[in-house]
Amino acid sequence: FGPEYVRAIAPYQGGKPIAEVAREFGLDEAKIIKLASNENPLGMPESAKVAMQKAVADIGRYPDANGFDLKAAITAKYDVPSEWITLGNGSNDILELATHAFVQAGQAAMYAEYSFVVYALATQAVGARAIVVKAKDYGHDLDAMAAAITDDTKLIFIANPNNPTGSFIPAAELEAFLARVPPQIVVVLDEAYNEYLPPELQYESISWVRKYPNLLVSRTMSKAYGLAGLRIGFGIAQPVITDLLNRIRQPFNVNSLAQAAAVAALNDTAFLQRSAQLNRDGYRQLTQTFDELGLEYVPSFGNFVMVKVGADEAAGARVNLALLKQGIIVRPVANYGLPQWLRVTIGLPDENAAFIDALKKLLS
Ligand code: PMP
Repeated sequence: FGPEYVRAIAPYQGGKPIAEVAREFGLDEAKIIKLASNENPLGMPESAKVAMQKAVADIGRYPDANGFDLKAAITAKYDVPSEWITLGNGSNDILELATHAFVQAGQAAMYAEYSFVVYALATQAVGARAIVVKAKDYGHDLDAMAAAITDDTKLIFIANPNNPTGSFIPAAELEAFLARVPPQIVVVLDEAYNEYLPPELQYESISWVRKYPNLLVSRTMSKAYGLAGLRIGFGIAQPVITDLLNRIRQPFNVNSLAQAAAVAALNDTAFLQRSAQLNRDGYRQLTQTFDELGLEYVPSFGNFVMVKVGADEAAGARVNLALLKQGIIVRPVANYGLPQWLRVTIGLPDENAAFIDALKKLLS
């Protein structure tokens, strides 16, 4: 059935769920450590749990299709009109909506080599051509991207920071790129890991939206906000873009528990700060060990680190399997063309230590 471009899609491979690893390797679920999906090791904020539990009383009703309260919370936090906001069932929803709205079969979408795999999936799903621009130092080469723009390029995805490599584009370079992109091409600036950036690297992408009508900034509540299981993301763009996304989204794409929890989490700055601090400490813990072991890693600005675990093409798969047998789940990145590397999410200090111990034993 269906078009060839759909049949050609390789399905998304997420981090292995804990229950699946327990079954497959005969392990106790409670002892498994999952550092595979860039989740927040603190789990959900208490404030969000309370709000969600309250919202359960109304679960017999449909959610607010327009997300009034959540948009009001985003408006208050980021100083954007509510007509500029699109809510998504995770930010993957925003990425997909943008692809459906702006690219069709016979046209092209552009993204960088080693950038988030959903850009490729979304592009394939609409039968569009992908322009994949070679990475520079495992990150985006914006000059090469600008040079690769064709007449039929309709959409450009930029992940900042990028997953799985953790690379980061400084604000000045990013804005210079936006100024170079022809105004009829939509740029999706995917900032899933924005909240982990230290204050000195934060930049005003949301205010750039005022200047660039072709810019769509995407954010998620799955990472620093600790709500991955609830599936909430949002896009910010001028109404010329937002109107179109709104026309093609599902009527109730963000459920009511998610909306309630998201409002609470957005306002919980203490939780956000705790998450960012824990992440900075964990990054140091992991990378100090990589340095000691002489392992190459890509400096990361997200809540994960990509580390090279061997020189041969099977290294990532081999070390991954050995870790799984010990109940440690990390993420192979061979599907990105990086078979010698693994991506490890920064966890709690104990979780990081367990991973480090296992890795040291495996590599010694
Ligand atoms: N963008 C990037 C760069 C990501 O790493 C992720 C999570 N893997 C997402 C978007 C999507 O996350 P979610 O759908 O949970 O918001």
